[in-house]
Amino acid sequence: MNETRAYSAHSATSPLESDKINRRDITPSDVQIDIQFCGVCHSDLHTVRNEWADFVPTTYPCVPGHEIIGRVTAVGSEVSQYKKGDLVGVGCLVDSDHTCPSCKIDMEQFCPDGVFTYNSPDKHLGGVTYGGYSESIVIDEFFVLKVPENLDPAGAAPLLCAGITTYSPLRHWKVGEGSKVGIVGLGGLGHMGVKFARAFGAHVVVFTTSESKVEDAMRLGAHEVVNSRNTEEMMKHAGTFHFILDTVSADHDINPYIQLLGIDGNLTLVGAPEKPLPVASMGLLFGRKSVSGSLIGGIAETQEMLDFCGEHNITSDVEVIPIQKINEAYERMLKSDVKYRFSIDMASLKSE
Ligand code: NAP
Ligand code: ZN
Repeated sequence: MNETRAYSAHSATSPLESDKINRRDITPSDVQIDIQFCGVCHSDLHTVRNEWADFVPTTYPCVPGHEIIGRVTAVGSEVSQYKKGDLVGVGCLVDSDHTCPSCKIDMEQFCPDGVFTYNSPDKHLGGVTYGGYSESIVIDEFFVLKVPENLDPAGAAPLLCAGITTYSPLRHWKVGEGSKVGIVGLGGLGHMGVKFARAFGAHVVVFTTSESKVEDAMRLGAHEVVNSRNTEEMMKHAGTFHFILDTVSADHDINPYIQLLGIDGNLTLVGAPEKPLPVASMGLLFGRKSVSGSLIGGIAETQEMLDFCGEHNITSDVEVIPIQKINEAYERMLKSDVKYRFSIDMASLKSE
């Protein structure tokens, strides 16, 4: 085992603080990675504060972080795809059974034996897995992603969760030329959704509660921006959308967005607020509309997304912070005050 520096929370109400954790010795199929940057996802905050207790209670200490970019420092004897020095990424998944129906169709995110990067049972060391707010990580090569060298690593880190979580449903619902697409919430996920929907050729409309983000939304690729608190502005779009992606992290009313969908239109939720969101069935009946969900994406699709980003030079707009600012960053994220993703420079951990 190797001791590594990390930041962890010891309860739902305590701040993240400097800690030491163990990483396993590399097995023949493992890759060891020196972490350079780790994006800060709202899921990290939900987990640290045990907001998903009814679904997946948090085990403490909790080391979050599933938007990991780094360089390979060592590989096991059977590793064939990676070598020392490669720029690689790790997202939300670190293990699966490879045999279940989900794994067989490259959707490891739905594997009943799947292991998430943090707060999942650790099959090697016992306890739970520890994420990317740390110096290094050891991962089975299947779950390691190749990161195109032309991408800035700080901005590429959020692609590993915010990127794939928006890329996957936009692809699944065949968003492209001729589609009118709405992106609800301009945060970490939302701003990536805008970039991808635009790159796929859609007409993109951003719904925001933050007036201060209007100009940025246009710069990021939106054709139109709607203040979602203004009913009149909202209703101008009634019945016109093919697809709407809702990335909101907090309680909100989704029924107005259902009204904006056209016949057979779909509203996909990727945001995961603490409490259930009520849906008026009448709103769905008229127009045969649907509401669905989507969870990150499989490993093959994540690689496809990274390659697409490499070709189109797409990264996240990041504010790079030292790990010592992480608790402040969480408070700012709660106030929707992040443009548009925090990316932690892990070199800052070396001074701990
Ligand atoms: P984020 O950066 O905090 O962005 C969320 C955005 O939602 C905010 O920027 C804000 O946008 C909007 N918002 C916040 N509070 C709101 C409210 N009360 N009413 C209306 N809008 C509000 O969070 P994120 O990292 O993008 O994550 C978003 C959600 O997705 C979280 O719940 C996270 O856990 C979840 N998630 C799901 C998956 C998945 O696989 N499905 C993966 C990653 C994350 P405006 O300022 O523009 O209004
Ligand atoms: Zn995430």
